[in-house]
Order: sequence, then C-alpha cells, then structure tokens
Amino acid sequence: MKKMTIFLTVLLLLLGCSKKDEVKAVQTEKTVEIKTEGEGAKVFFTKDISGEGVMRIYEMIADSVRGNVALKTHFGESGNKNYLKADLSKPLVQKLGATYVETNVLYGGKRGKTESHIKLAKDHGFDFAPIDILESEGEKEIPVKGLKHFDKVVIGEHMDRYDTFILFSHFKGHGMAGFGGAIKNVSMGFGTPRGKRAMHARQRPLSDIDKCIKCGLCKEECPENAIEIGDVVVIDPYKCSGCGKCASLCPTDALFIEKQGTEIFMEKLVEYVKGIDENYHMVYINVLANISKSCDCMGSAPAPFTEDIGIVAGTDIVAVEKASLDLVNRATGHEDTFEHVNHISGNRQIEYAAELGLGTENYVLVDIDK
Ligand code: SF4
Ligand code: SF4
Repeated sequence: MKKMTIFLTVLLLLLGCSKKDEVKAVQTEKTVEIKTEGEGAKVFFTKDISGEGVMRIYEMIADSVRGNVALKTHFGESGNKNYLKADLSKPLVQKLGATYVETNVLYGGKRGKTESHIKLAKDHGFDFAPIDILESEGEKEIPVKGLKHFDKVVIGEHMDRYDTFILFSHFKGHGMAGFGGAIKNVSMGFGTPRGKRAMHARQRPLSDIDKCIKCGLCKEECPENAIEIGDVVVIDPYKCSGCGKCASLCPTDALFIEKQGTEIFMEKLVEYVKGIDENYHMVYINVLANISKSCDCMGSAPAPFTEDIGIVAGTDIVAVEKASLDLVNRATGHEDTFEHVNHISGNRQIEYAAELGLGTENYVLVDIDK
C-alpha cells in the first residue's frame, strides 16, 4: 500500500511538472463601465454595509419573497475573520421570522457534523433564530437533463420545508473558482457532502516543486491530512478531496490547480445551480466587504486586499454576480481582479450560467443611496 502511495505521488508530481502560466498584473487606468439606466435586469446597490443597509436593499426585492423563508449564509470557519457577521443579517432574519440554513462540509472539523456546526454558528453569534442543517435527516437527488457534467444534483431533504431562499452571500476570492459569490453559495452551499465531493472530484492540485519554500501552510490547513513535507511536498491522492485550500494558501504558487480543472469545477458549480433553480425559489443579496483572496472556509484566510464596496441585490443570479464582479474590478482597477490575486479568472461561472439560461449579464445598477 505504501509503495502504491509513493508511486502515485511521484506520478502526480511528474504530471504537475508543467509550470503554471505566469500571470502578470493587469492594473489598468481603465474604469469599468457600469450601466445605470436603460434596458437590463435590475440590480440594486447600496454602500451601506450594515443591518439597516440590508433592510433597505431587501425592500427592493421583497415582492419576490414569499411564504416560509430560509436565509442561506456561511457561519465562518473557526478562526476565519472575514465571514459575514451575524449582526448584518439579524434584522432581516428577525423581521421575516426566517431560518438560517446550511449544509455540512465535505471535510472534517466543526462544520463537518450537524451538532458541532450549529454550536460553531452560535459561538459566532447566530443564536437568535433557528438553524437548519438541510441534510441532517437525509438527502435527495434531483435529476437534471442535458448538462455536461451531471445528471443529478444531491441536496438536503429539508430544502422542501421552505418557499423562498434568500442567498445571503459573501462575495470574495476562492482558490478554485476565482471568486465565490451567489453561484458558489447555492451550489456548494446546498449540495450535501456527497454533492460537494462530486463537484470537487478530480480537481487535485499539481505542484511546481522548485517553488516550494517549505513554509508548511498547506500541511497545516489541509482538512484531509493529505500532505507530507519532506524533500518535496507529497500529496496522498487517496486522501485528497480536491478542496483546493492548499493551492489557495500557498504563498509561492508551488501548488496550483490547472486552468482546465478550475473551469470544469466552475461549470459543475453552475450545473448544481441549474438543478436547484429549476426546483426552488431564490433571491440574491451579495455583500462586497472583507474581500480576501480566499474563502470563508479557511481559518487562516488572508486579510482583505481591497476596500469594502457595498451590497448588491436582485432576483437574477447572473446579473447579481456580474454586477458584483464589475464593482470589485472597478474598485481595484484590475481588468480581472481574481485572476490577478488567485491566478484564476472566475468569469466562466458567469458565462456558463448565462449559457444555461440562469439569467443575463445585461444588468442595470440602481443605486438606492441616491
Ligand atoms: S504552502 Fe506552498 S511553499 Fe509552503 S510548504 Fe506548501 S507547497 Fe511549499
Ligand atoms: S486539495 Fe490540498 S488542502 Fe484540499 S484535501 Fe487536497 S491536499 Fe488537502
């Protein structure tokens, strides 16, 4: 068994020898054009990142919210400082009598089991409303047709308890998808651990061993204990779930996910959204604050790389994601901010979601502060 592991690891390292393309900074003088009048899906915007700001922007989409409401957020990994704090969604959740909903993660840790996940949420201040871990009493499969990667999506049975899902998403970087916003919050957020494994499958990191400085960050953060650092970094392919955390954190890009793999990963996320969108009613609020290169699943996610921007909301997931990305690009001055900070453009998420008919990239930004 040990011999086999070493063999596979060496194979993995050999496969990983093609170096990651050099990505140059693309700081531009160009201002990103954002349409504020004319035809297009309405996306609302406020600079007010507070409970009050959330309430004001919610009123713009309130007509689309009905029945028993669930609010899907991320309670933050233990140690993470960037996640959306409870006070931001508290007034809205209390007004609607809504339930916080989540799913357990693929890997271990406190968010891997229902009881410890709920305890972590409460420790992080989400202690004023019910919390429902959607697959805690089982999961269900929903068939999907005509897609490239999946013929079904796997979600929690408790999804059927709710009439409207408010996707309350933190828009920030992500080590395998470039950025994580509403699309990621729906797909990984509603997929059960089995569904998450299907989305992550075969997306394992490659390595450029010459770049490794043996800092140990990857080993420290790996949730599957799949990394050993000796003369070279060794990843056990039997243990690795393909979560991408190590590649996202590696300070020298010695570990990376190849471009083709990240695009397939993004397409899988979008296909999960498609399956869920066909069966459940959702609206979207994206918060553009504490924007780090890494997601909130990382205890040691780096500090934000840009200023806080505001909150966007709408009923069209593609329009909301595109507006969020444009606003980040406008704030940083980069044509593609997440390619710059993560070496991964997240644009495929938006393109493929539009291709699958989930919404439109043609939006009009309505500033509700004016
Ligand atoms: S995080 Fe990167 S540089 Fe540090 S030990 Fe791991 S592979 Fe090497
Ligand atoms: S992708 Fe990296 S961090 Fe994630 S399980 Fe595999 S080796 Fe560990």
